Amino acid sequence: MGNKYDLTVIGGGPGGYVAAIRAAQLGLKVAVIEDKQMGGTCLNRGCIPTKSLLHSSEVYQTAKTGLDFGIVVGDVQFDFGKIIAKKDSVVKRLRSGIEFLVKKNGATIINGLGYIKDKNTIEVTGKEPQTITTDKIIIATGSRPSRPPIPGLDSEKVLDSDSLLDLKNCPDKLVIIGGGVIGIEFATVFNSLGKDVTIIEMMDEILPGVDSEISSTIRKSLLKKGIILYTSSTVLSIETKKETECVFKTNNVEQRETCDLVLVAIGRKPNSEGIGLENIGLVPEKGFINVNDKLETSVPGVYAIGDVTGKVMLAHVASAQGLIAAANVAGIAQRMNYSVVPGCIYTSPEIATVGMTEAEAIKQGNKVKVGRFPVSANGKSMIMGETEGLIKIVTDETTGEILGTHILAPRATDMIAEMCLAMKLESTVEEISNTIHPHPTVSEIIMEAAHDVEGLCVHKP
Ligand code: FAD
Repeated sequence: MGNKYDLTVIGGGPGGYVAAIRAAQLGLKVAVIEDKQMGGTCLNRGCIPTKSLLHSSEVYQTAKTGLDFGIVVGDVQFDFGKIIAKKDSVVKRLRSGIEFLVKKNGATIINGLGYIKDKNTIEVTGKEPQTITTDKIIIATGSRPSRPPIPGLDSEKVLDSDSLLDLKNCPDKLVIIGGGVIGIEFATVFNSLGKDVTIIEMMDEILPGVDSEISSTIRKSLLKKGIILYTSSTVLSIETKKETECVFKTNNVEQRETCDLVLVAIGRKPNSEGIGLENIGLVPEKGFINVNDKLETSVPGVYAIGDVTGKVMLAHVASAQGLIAAANVAGIAQRMNYSVVPGCIYTSPEIATVGMTEAEAIKQGNKVKVGRFPVSANGKSMIMGETEGLIKIVTDETTGEILGTHILAPRATDMIAEMCLAMKLESTVEEISNTIHPHPTVSEIIMEAAHDVEGLCVHKP
């Protein structure tokens, strides 16, 4: 029968499409149902479009500072429409690449909204309506931006990360509610394009969860670049009369910021409503679907992966979960391990972390030894004119085990992979220290920080 599958995946994001491809590679007959566009949030409204905007804004900055490197450029300007068009063309190419790979591996893409009728039946409405019979299900429906109940937030001047990516004109002044990863990345884009940016954050520091030395250093860097930052501040309302005003309170004092647009970046909500969970007896917790380490829900044969599980809301985690869930569906027992998950923040300089922060390691009772190295003492960073930042390697003093690494440096997001592998292989800091790193590269800061753990750092000023 045409509509009968071994596995049906609901949602074609980095969790769902990766699970579908792997399950097909393992010999299963697979369908993946996608309501909007293959690639999900990550490709269409998240990781890729934001990094394209960031890259364009960095190129603009580099061109403007060309003279520092001996390059004479004329009057440097940017064309916002072309920046958006460049982003759209990258997204389009990658999307067709994903569709090609899914089909090449023999899985079927069904365009529509999936609704679970029972654990073996899915009703699809929308473009390709049909009833699917399936042995197993993977729920990979992802998440969407949250909107808090703040008066005035329904104004057309208030955007979320989805709608901001479709802007036609660049705002001259942007107020961002939320100093988490998404808010700070958008602040970096518009600040690099020379626009006024104000961030309003409820907590007493931006980027909660990031090592405090790293977050306080990036805060100083953002302030130096002209970004206005209000911490410990609560937004009360958005007023849109003649002008758009964000009304907020800092230490009980009411303040107002006028702007062209407001971006709400206060977190994301799981897409677990309206997909028929009640028909199979699945009750989400605060909207998130509970899974065991095989990614199976409390209903045998029904799995969930990615943002909708709320484990770690990152694309590479969704994909890793997709691979494990697909293997389990195919009868190959595999378990998910979250002990080595890198986290990247695309500020300028970039932030990349893996493992425990120094504070977390101490709290967990470890006897901690930390190695540090400043980016300002690294030759390649000096050549690049990007000397802000530092690296911290957090180790267990007794065993030399690497407990965590926290980098604020150019190319940090590429360099963190070395420390992920080191932690995965249970390398000691001595082994990092004895590994010859290429010169001149920014990656030398990793070796230098490892030397610093041993108290024998050659280049530390
Ligand atoms: P999603 O990518 O959300 O995909 C779910 C898909 O399911 C969607 O396409 C949706 O249309 C579809 N769907 C939902 N319900 C149904 C239904 N009933 N039927 C059919 N289809 C359905 N992560 C990183 O790792 N690195 C980054 O740099 C990064 N940057 C980000 C920047 C922004 C602005 C945002 C918003 C997120 C970013 N993320 C980043 C997070 C990342 O995008 C998500 O963690 C990731 O996309 C989650 O993947 P997923 O497969 O679980 O869900």
